[in-house]
Amino acid sequence: MLGTNPRTRKSLGLMLLVNSLYPLNAVLAWWAMRAGFMHDEVGVFLITYILVGPALFYAAIRSGWTRRFQDPMLVFPMSLFCVVSIIISFAGLNAEVHGVVLAILPLVLMAGQFSLAPSQIRALGLLSVLGIGLVTLWHWQTTPASEHQFVRDVVQVVYIAGVLLVSSKVAQIVTRLRHQLVRSQTELGDALARVQLLATRDELTGLPNRRRMDEILTEETRRHARQGVPFSIALIDLDHFKRINDTHGHHVGDDVLRHFAERARSALREVDVLARWGGEEFLLLCPGSQMEQAAVGLARLQARLDAEPLLPHLPDVRVTFSAGLTTHWQDERIEASIERADRALYQAKAQGRNRWVQSP
Ligand code: GH3
Ligand code: MG
Ligand code: MG
Repeated sequence: MLGTNPRTRKSLGLMLLVNSLYPLNAVLAWWAMRAGFMHDEVGVFLITYILVGPALFYAAIRSGWTRRFQDPMLVFPMSLFCVVSIIISFAGLNAEVHGVVLAILPLVLMAGQFSLAPSQIRALGLLSVLGIGLVTLWHWQTTPASEHQFVRDVVQVVYIAGVLLVSSKVAQIVTRLRHQLVRSQTELGDALARVQLLATRDELTGLPNRRRMDEILTEETRRHARQGVPFSIALIDLDHFKRINDTHGHHVGDDVLRHFAERARSALREVDVLARWGGEEFLLLCPGSQMEQAAVGLARLQARLDAEPLLPHLPDVRVTFSAGLTTHWQDERIEASIERADRALYQAKAQGRNRWVQSP
């Protein structure tokens, strides 16, 4: 009956529960016809309407056909359907008793407030006033003037107009609250994403920071232990960086770090992870690579730094780097590999900089 989709099951269950009132009302309408309270033709029409309509709604939702709409549970069409059924009942019942069905109208409008827009509530209210007003005029036209009770009939229409006013006001408040709730949820989500970004990114270069890189390395080490996938790391340190700071100022030093990060990212493979390890030092992780493959990326970066100055507005600032390269060993702690890379970096510096040393 309800299908297997847990999301639609719940709403469909609720819909069936609410719509189970229609057969009950069909029985009542049939009884009212028998007892002489209900106009025969209108009564037959009403019974057909409230038995066929809900079945069609159920079929449309259950088949998944309504999933393409913004309102897949058809809350607005069903509310409209319900208001129309109330107006038909009002038209079919004798003037002495038909006021009773009006009590259901505010219920429909109130229930709609949790899922309908204020404009939809207003439309339902307007339709109610219009329908009840027109039916009242029709009654006045079709019954002898001696049987008219103008005051009672006018009170009924005014009552519905009042309900419309109050309901649309309440609907506005409820909608505003609903929207506020959604907005604060979105803001909270955004704030969380920002905090996560701040905690894992280096602010200057936008690269993963040391804390994030520690996590990535731990994951990679685990993968290596489990599946034997090799990986290499390189510690990269800019050469004579202090001189750039001293000659051009700290802000140019910052620019160099930013542009170096950018150029390195574009020279390396998509799968390689470059992190700011601290100061003017970077750590490169090359997953699935032996040292020799990782060295290809470093060579490409070196060539690009050679070919084009890092800062377009300061072409005399030439930047080179030294690096220590190593491959992670089976069953070794990641700290040991980093230490090996650090020793290799030290050797590269000692051998004259602008080079890398591989430590098997
Ligand atoms: P070497 O070739 O031996 O690596 O020489 P170096 O000058 O690069 O090395 P050193 O360790 O003597 O100097 C590193 C400098 O980097 C010192 C520090 O002030 C500077 N530095 C560290 N972090 C930043 C930063 O975020 N921005 C700037 N502008 N400078 C930084
Ligand atoms: Mg340096
Ligand atoms: Mg350094």
